[in-house]
Amino acid sequence: MINTIRVSLLIIIGRTISFLSQTLNLGHGSTWPGHIALYFYPDILFYFSKQIKDKIILIAGTNGKTTTSKMIQTVLEKKGKKVIHNESGANLLNGLVSAFILKSNLLGKIEADDAIFEVDEATLPIVIDNLASFWGAERLQNRFWTSPSTPSLSTPSSGPRGSGPRGQNDGINSNKKLIVVLLNLFRDQLDRYGEVDIIARKWNEVLETLSPNTTLILNADDPQIAELGISKKAKVFYFGLEDEKLFLEKTEDATDSTFCLRCGAKLIYDGVFYSHLGHWHCPSCGRKRPATNLSSWQELLPGVYNRYNTLAAVLTLLHLGLLEKEIKEYLNDFKPAFGRQEEFIIALKKVRIFLSKNPAGFNESLRTVINEGAREILFVLNDRIPDGRDVSWIWDVDFEMLHAGVDLFVSGDRAYDMAVRLKYSGERQKSRLRQDFGGQAKVKSQKHKSKVKSRNETIKQSNNFIVEESLEKAIKIGLEQLPEKETLYILPTYSAMLEVRKILIGKKIL
Ligand SMILES: [Zn+2]
Repeated sequence: MINTIRVSLLIIIGRTISFLSQTLNLGHGSTWPGHIALYFYPDILFYFSKQIKDKIILIAGTNGKTTTSKMIQTVLEKKGKKVIHNESGANLLNGLVSAFILKSNLLGKIEADDAIFEVDEATLPIVIDNLASFWGAERLQNRFWTSPSTPSLSTPSSGPRGSGPRGQNDGINSNKKLIVVLLNLFRDQLDRYGEVDIIARKWNEVLETLSPNTTLILNADDPQIAELGISKKAKVFYFGLEDEKLFLEKTEDATDSTFCLRCGAKLIYDGVFYSHLGHWHCPSCGRKRPATNLSSWQELLPGVYNRYNTLAAVLTLLHLGLLEKEIKEYLNDFKPAFGRQEEFIIALKKVRIFLSKNPAGFNESLRTVINEGAREILFVLNDRIPDGRDVSWIWDVDFEMLHAGVDLFVSGDRAYDMAVRLKYSGERQKSRLRQDFGGQAKVKSQKHKSKVKSRNETIKQSNNFIVEESLEKAIKIGLEQLPEKETLYILPTYSAMLEVRKILIGKKIL
């Protein structure tokens, strides 16, 4: 009863804040309600989640969380399930709690079969631990799992959370399912997290607490993710690509984890699909990419990274007992989430947004738009908190793959950093050419020859290269220069993507 009154008050406060922040355009409407609620009721995530009737699906990884979640949500809802999802992409603990607050009634009651949560890498262990009772386990409250990005849980406090393991009468139901989907681990916002292997260690420890009635859906092609399936009590299923035609010609700069996690030897790749995802094995101890439970599905969205998202979503759905036929039918007209390959038509011209927030994701966006024959690309680089304040990661993006005939526009808070990076990529192309034609490097294959030729053209044609601080002006100039029926591709960081959408939806452009 006391809990109900407390939760009701927190819901009223939360909703009011959310309403005000939306009306006054203050932002953070999807995190403040949860932030306040967690302060007054640290155990509130469990209070809500124990009301979920059937299953909770947690999706984590550097890239692809939103698209994968949306695919699973689409299918479950078409199947008639009531699903709660942190759609705003707010993926820290306060974002998850906010999603519940905004979907519950004023007495804190949730009517939902399932919850799908995108969870931030550093927050995942805390969320899993908070939900322990959901599938019938006990909480460990390991301090190693807490992190600076989730301060509200970094210190044990008085109140219900400190009251020890819950009894059978506290909503525990071991028939409920927990499914954890782990997509990949790339270098991302190092200033917030430190190295990816610390995250992987924390994940490994918390996953060891899972019981046999929980499920792990893991990416076999990412060595660090694949390792997480070893000696776990949870059921483990793997997805990964088999199609060797999709192998990259060379390993790109954004390669992160290439050492064996068991013995430390350098891993050998028979082929790489992108970044460090591929067919790998350890020459020293014999550890190798595990066999996959799902390796192909029809292409729903362009880009190899979306093939991974699709495999992760479909494998999860198959595991839940859905039939292939149903999944195909329900995903037939799947539309990407906002900012992910989202399309706008403005005065007979197309604009497509490819959210690009870290080297691995950026390389994949670039590769996809180049494959689509992009002639105009606008890069928008911001350095606000959701983007990460340190923009040095742009030096790990393989801009050298840009070829002839592409007009480049640059905008955002850090437009000049991006401009320098792009200029340098042009210089690197030139110096590679000098080497190639100076007889020092031999042209090895036909494929390589054609690449050199296109780089040569890049330099001769000296494309349009415009730096414009005002994003609105940059989009406007881009659209003006674009022939009808052509596409302006925009590759923004996260906060920049929100701004781009605002400008396009507000049609301030016209
Ligand atoms: Zn090894």
